[in-house]
Amino acid sequence: MRNFSVPTGQRTCFVDITSDVSRAIRECGVSEGLAVVFVSHTTAGVTINENADPSVRRDIIAHLEKAVPDRGDYDHAEGNSPAHIKASMMGSSVTVIVANGKPVLGTWQAIYLCEFDGPRTRNVFVEVRG
Ligand code: ZN
Repeated sequence: MRNFSVPTGQRTCFVDITSDVSRAIRECGVSEGLAVVFVSHTTAGVTINENADPSVRRDIIAHLEKAVPDRGDYDHAEGNSPAHIKASMMGSSVTVIVANGKPVLGTWQAIYLCEFDGPRTRNVFVEVRG
């Protein structure tokens, strides 16, 4: 198992962690198998999506915010229920296939840490099984 930290610069943002995940997989020394990428937080998630046009990320964030507005009928006293909900919508892990020691991703895919209650430093864990 490997882990790394990701500083997030804004309240809500997607941070491309593909190169960190690739390095973690390389360090595990497994050439064929599966890698689980896990974010150990309740107000951040992880997803795989488009890496070419940044407006795709902007659109995802904008529509998550439309679906889960900042102000609403929330009970959670900490005041960050929208961040919890959006984190669950994205999920806390993704699984990628490992081939030739690298994650199998499409040309236009990247792995993103999804920050919904930043800025802060997030932890990402990568477990690889051959
Ligand atoms: Zn909370």
